[in-house]
Amino acid sequence: MAPATAKETETVSLVNISTEKWPPRHRTYFGSLEVRSPESGETYAITPIRGCTGVMDLGDKRIMEYRITAREIAEDVAREINGDSGEGSFHGVFVAAGPEPTEAELADARHRLEEFQRRLVAAADLEWERTKNPMFITDLERRAARQLGLEKPWLYDPKPLADCPVCAEKIKPGVAVCRSCGAILDREKAAQYGLVAAEEKDSPRGRRVHAEKREQEPAGK
Ligand SMILES: [Zn+2]
Repeated sequence: MAPATAKETETVSLVNISTEKWPPRHRTYFGSLEVRSPESGETYAITPIRGCTGVMDLGDKRIMEYRITAREIAEDVAREINGDSGEGSFHGVFVAAGPEPTEAELADARHRLEEFQRRLVAAADLEWERTKNPMFITDLERRAARQLGLEKPWLYDPKPLADCPVCAEKIKPGVAVCRSCGAILDREKAAQYGLVAAEEKDSPRGRRVHAEKREQEPAGK
């Protein structure tokens, strides 16, 4: 994973308190790096980061080596993960001062993460109030509400739209009649609302039974 030029033994601990999984980080000087997430029962996970020597190609077979400390790399990765969701964005990754995070460092990270999640939930509440449309609620906002243990009307994913088998327009699940082409998609439901004749769905045998019943008990029903 690390290039042969990396001979530094100094490591720092990149700490993650979120169970979120991120795609590996890529840097030319170390290749690919996967930030660990805590397993169930753990409150944090540590990804050890080593310093590297980067090599700059100056052309004419001349190269220049430069040092990148473990801390610089770790801070860079933490900044990238934390900062991808707008202002005040924090996803629970930080660089510990020592090999293990202190209680104070963990408490601070938990506080920042919760603050950010509450901000996301507040934004989703506003959006919901305005539009009542679950399509405008982001996955990040849903995730924040779930992690805070909040029950929200916008928490559930909207049912996916289906295609009308006749005209291929997008239709809501459970509709009786296609809005764009008028195809009857649920005859029973359409009949219930008087959109098609109810007897079309009755079998001839069904109608005969009704007729016999009426003969036997004329006063019935
Ligand atoms: Zn249709």
